[in-house]
Amino acid sequence: MEYYSTNHNKRNVSLREAVVKGLAADRGLFMPERIPTLPSAFFKNIGNLSLQEISYAVANTLFGSDIDSSVLKNIVYDTLNFDIPLIHVNGDIYSLELFHGPTAAFKDVGARFMARLLGHFTRQDDSGMVNVLVATSGDTGSAVANGFLGVEGVRVFVLYPKGKVSKIQEAQFTTLGQNITAIEVNGTFDDCQRLVKSAFIDDDLNAKMKLSSANSINVARFLPQMFYYFHAYAQLLQRGQADKDIVMAVPSGNFGNITAGLIAKRMGLPIKRFIAANNRNDIFYQYLLTGKYEPRASISTIANAMDVGDPSNFARVLDLYGNSHDRICQDISGCSYSDEQIGDTLADTYHRHGYLLDPHGAVAYRALIEGLKVGEAGIFIETAHPAKFKDTVESIIGESIPIPEKLEKFMNGTKQTVKMSSGFAAFKKFLISVD
Ligand SMILES: *Cc1c(COP(=O)(O)O)cnc(C)c1O
Repeated sequence: MEYYSTNHNKRNVSLREAVVKGLAADRGLFMPERIPTLPSAFFKNIGNLSLQEISYAVANTLFGSDIDSSVLKNIVYDTLNFDIPLIHVNGDIYSLELFHGPTAAFKDVGARFMARLLGHFTRQDDSGMVNVLVATSGDTGSAVANGFLGVEGVRVFVLYPKGKVSKIQEAQFTTLGQNITAIEVNGTFDDCQRLVKSAFIDDDLNAKMKLSSANSINVARFLPQMFYYFHAYAQLLQRGQADKDIVMAVPSGNFGNITAGLIAKRMGLPIKRFIAANNRNDIFYQYLLTGKYEPRASISTIANAMDVGDPSNFARVLDLYGNSHDRICQDISGCSYSDEQIGDTLADTYHRHGYLLDPHGAVAYRALIEGLKVGEAGIFIETAHPAKFKDTVESIIGESIPIPEKLEKFMNGTKQTVKMSSGFAAFKKFLISVD
């Protein structure tokens, strides 16, 4: 299968090229040229299949013509070696818990799949080490670093702003060792991002080493997020609740997660509609209301992984619906909540139903509380473990919460970083010296 650019200005590319390049040469985002549907026999049997079996069937439908099936199966099974349970919260509302992976956030799924696929392509053409550069304000760095940990043929450099990420986030990418190097930049997140971008366009570096990005716009990070929508449906079926109209509420920032869900629907998954749940960064919600897309600077909220002022996957949503605002509104509705509303929902759900949400999941849960209609079953994506936002969550519920063992383990590791100024010359010299 080939991949086209949402800007439609360049020739189509192979999966391999789309994954290695990340972004199309015309700055568009790659999309699969066809979205195949799964046979009805698959959906009849899906309630009997495991997460790994479902994911492999979906992956094979999409990537089967590009990767040897035994390799693909290994990649899928290795990526999804943790549970993604569907938990009943109250009424007709269920939580799809995506925080049981190594870094306790849904980004583990895409990051682990991409790491393994990129590793495979690199080893296949034996063209030497790939150097993945990633700038992080906290969460992306941990998912990417842990996803690539120990993957042969790939080396990862995580750039983060010194003193500006939480202790637990920092521990998740500075204590790993092996093929992961954490670079502590004396500057801001924007400085880190600028260093990475400068490296990608630097002729000397590109001549000397293979550079790649693990940005969320990469098809290998975005498409695997489809798998768990199918698994959610299978679990609802097992509970005898799948005859209801299914509504998926997705806490959305850059819109990669929800776009994967929209593609799952296109592949035949019986989801009636989606809710894109926003915090006060509600550019998409405003687009639904007015038909106008007006990006603006992000504002900080307690659901900070969704503080995005110009969602990068908006181009994919538009492309999927042929740029039709009407068609988009048929499948997707939106909402926007303040920090106060998010906090109220989190506290209320904990005290009344004994379910502890994280601030991002709380946005989507509230969307279902307010928006679910009779005859519908609602599933929201619980994108991170509440302990990742320990201080915020504790101050909202007035109790202390335990840190899961796998997060605690990071805290006990030894921090190893390379200290760097925010000027490009020093970073360039460093990259050349490691090769
Ligand atoms: C990244 C992230 C989101 C937003 O996901 P998108 O795919 O960017 O819309 C939501 N919640 C958490 C916890 C995240 O880390």
